[in-house]
Amino acid sequence: MSSKPDTIIGLEVHIQLKLQSKLFCPCTTKPCEEPNTHVCPICLGHPGSKPLLNKKAVEAAVKLALALGAKVNARIHFSRKSYFYPDLAKGYQITQYEIPVATEGSVLLPSGNMVGLTRLHIEEDPASLTHKETTCLIDYNRSGIPLIELVTKPEMHSPEEAREFLNELITVLQYLDIFDPTAGIMKADANISIAKHKYTRVEIKNILGFKEIERALTHEMKRQQVHDVVRETRGWDSVAGQTYSMRAKEEEADYGYILDPDITPIQITQEFIAGVRKTIPELPPVKAQRYHQILGVDATDAHVIASDLALALLFEELAAHHNPVLVARWLRRELLRALNLSNKKVTDVNAQHLHELFELIEEKKITDKIAQQLMEELVKKDFSPKQRVQEQKLGVVADEDLIKKACRDIIAQNRQAVEDYEKGEEKALHFLFGKVMAVTKGKAQPDVIKKMLEELLKK
Ligand code: ZN
Ligand code: MN
Repeated sequence: MSSKPDTIIGLEVHIQLKLQSKLFCPCTTKPCEEPNTHVCPICLGHPGSKPLLNKKAVEAAVKLALALGAKVNARIHFSRKSYFYPDLAKGYQITQYEIPVATEGSVLLPSGNMVGLTRLHIEEDPASLTHKETTCLIDYNRSGIPLIELVTKPEMHSPEEAREFLNELITVLQYLDIFDPTAGIMKADANISIAKHKYTRVEIKNILGFKEIERALTHEMKRQQVHDVVRETRGWDSVAGQTYSMRAKEEEADYGYILDPDITPIQITQEFIAGVRKTIPELPPVKAQRYHQILGVDATDAHVIASDLALALLFEELAAHHNPVLVARWLRRELLRALNLSNKKVTDVNAQHLHELFELIEEKKITDKIAQQLMEELVKKDFSPKQRVQEQKLGVVADEDLIKKACRDIIAQNRQAVEDYEKGEEKALHFLFGKVMAVTKGKAQPDVIKKMLEELLKK
């Protein structure tokens, strides 16, 4: 019996680098409604124009390579990948072939699967095409946009795992501050093969957006389970939600790569690498481990918080002044829930006011119930929790006589529940507890209420 998995998936991911100007010319990378306005002789491929490499792209690529544990090459080249298509004014794309920025490296998935990388290189984006009935519109604003291409080994085994891989990748890119998911694109070519067809490799080209990548793979996997499969390149129609045959698969050799004589080889010195290494922040797995092992935070809380840079920074700021375990628990459970509810981002919340809220929680000046309500409201609209608690008298009811009176009243008003409780029905106690919570408006500590109810019912 073979131990080979049923499904094998590999990805070639293209990530738009967060840079001000294009890869080989000074044109801006700013998104623009008006087509063909951010162009110059270089990105339009006019004869005689010479490309000028944006060094920041090399920095970003080396940064990502180091973060993923890849081997950076000491000397890199740019090559011309020739093919005929209207999105390439020059008749070739400037990319890297023979010696990329880096090889090897890996990404560890939450499932524990380690996905190896083959290579990481820099290349320019071609122009974008819009097909309209019998015509095709070309926008060269995209031509020359700096991309990183990351090629994985075929080591993912389901579309969900491909999504996990992309999630982890996006987290690292955001930590490194080299990708802006709101402005930059992510597109992929995905290859997928299944055991049933002796792993005949099918490639799906140009899937735009990381959610679409999972969708396209899910569809293609199902198609292969039902239909015959030939080695080919397919496209992805996101509207119809299906892949379609494009052409028989071309080999890399068909592109006729040649070294680009206009761009001199670039030396990547050890000094340069050391300089870039200094700009890499503490990465998510290391952060999560530190939160868990040194600060004592629950392992899942630590992982969730470290996976989101903004949340991690907020956590670190708050944990410097409050109990880290408590802060982590509240951020992961309550803050994320509240953000989700109001469709807000971590950075929308006033950290100073969260400080106040944690002070109130830690000093037990408010109950958890009130704290939850305040956090929900704080996410919606900023205010001072301390002031709010004072103004609306939301502080904890410490007066035991008052709580006792509330318990007595509830017991007197709910004889049926009391009888049920005496017959041994635990649910009845929850019912009475809920009633006391309601009349004390969530301001009495739940454990105090519970204790008093039990004592009063015993008599
Ligand atoms: Zn240009
Ligand atoms: Mn490419």
